Amino acid sequence: MASINANFLKLKAGYLFPEIGRRVGAFTEANPDLAGKIIRCGIGDVTEPLPEAVRKAMHEGIDEQGDRSTFKGYGPEQGYAFLREAIVENQFADLGITPDEVFISDGSKCDTGNILDIFGEGNRIAITDPVYPVYVDTNVMAGNTGEADDKGAYEGLVYLPCTAENGFVADLPTEKVDLIYLCFPNNPTGTVATKEQLKAWVDYAKANDAIILFDAAYEAFIQDPEIPHSIFEIEGAHECCIEFRSFSKNGGFTGVRCAYVVIPKTVTGSTPDGTRIPLHQLWSRRHSTKFNGASYPVQKGAAAVFSAEGKAQVSTLIEHYMGNAALLREACTKAGLTVFGGENAPYVWVQCPVGVGSWEMFDKMLGEAQVVITPGAGFGAAGEGYFRISAFNSRENVEEVCKRIATVLG
Ligand SMILES: *Cc1c(COP(=O)(O)O)cnc(C)c1O
Repeated sequence: MASINANFLKLKAGYLFPEIGRRVGAFTEANPDLAGKIIRCGIGDVTEPLPEAVRKAMHEGIDEQGDRSTFKGYGPEQGYAFLREAIVENQFADLGITPDEVFISDGSKCDTGNILDIFGEGNRIAITDPVYPVYVDTNVMAGNTGEADDKGAYEGLVYLPCTAENGFVADLPTEKVDLIYLCFPNNPTGTVATKEQLKAWVDYAKANDAIILFDAAYEAFIQDPEIPHSIFEIEGAHECCIEFRSFSKNGGFTGVRCAYVVIPKTVTGSTPDGTRIPLHQLWSRRHSTKFNGASYPVQKGAAAVFSAEGKAQVSTLIEHYMGNAALLREACTKAGLTVFGGENAPYVWVQCPVGVGSWEMFDKMLGEAQVVITPGAGFGAAGEGYFRISAFNSRENVEEVCKRIATVLG
């Protein structure tokens, strides 16, 4: 008998996006004439094509693979030095990070999930609420939780509510935790943390011997020069933080896959007998055992994000999405709704009218405006009463969504 990992049975069967799909399906079946009008502002995927500089570099990478003299087989598991060096030079200059502390992968979703391989049992794990569901589900799979209650909250996790009162930056835990997931700019709320707020988290982690897992997938969308892009801008972070970055949202790599993890060699965890072990050493072993390197043409494309042309083209993409976010913020505000986020992130987090639940709002927007939004409750209990509108769309679609918001809610 092959026994299974029974932790998987604790998972709530992919509640959010399947439920959205089910409701959209039911709507189109009942209203076939309106099906063509539906505009999706729900899913966090980019819509605009890959920058030209990236495509050109990828083509070159493929051509090299077509010539015996430049053909490359397995590359370094940690990623090619040309890419790790470009990352450090362009994103971590003066932050005390070296290229050998950067690990290239095929995505932050995998990295934020896989990182649990290097942590032991019995850690107290803090998760912000609402949250990117991957952090929760991977902890369930790893056996770090008990069962979920009827609201979907798992026994054993420490949930940190992010609310309008705390500006969607969680308060420090009142108990001792060992692992903390932070994501700034945040998905789903689109909000950011100041240097002082991040400093308080790093101080907490140092005082409690905790590790912060910092997801910076949306750093490129930060417009305010005072907001940190990296947790390593914070003093003390090199002792207690791991940062996750991705080319998915800045370079539009969701379909071609490239991301990286930054682990300073000075970050350590503990064995049961109290011996300190660098997490870098464990991740290096894990990564080279279970991963065989990201695709060479893709890494060439990723490095091209940092070329002069690439930087200009990525800025244009970011400007496009942030222009969308500004229009969506304005439309919701004019319709009398209270709006958060969308100034340093491609997500607008909107408070539902008083007394309206987030799924009720979803049904209203679908039924009356044929606009698909994401109900806040799908990201955690504290997301109830909010909905997320994604700015990842064409300008034409966003302008149409703004018109419909004015008609339906204005
Ligand atoms: C999109 C996103 C990522 C990036 O994931 P990839 O696997 O690199 O595409 C990471 N974290 C969050 C919170 C995201 O929304």
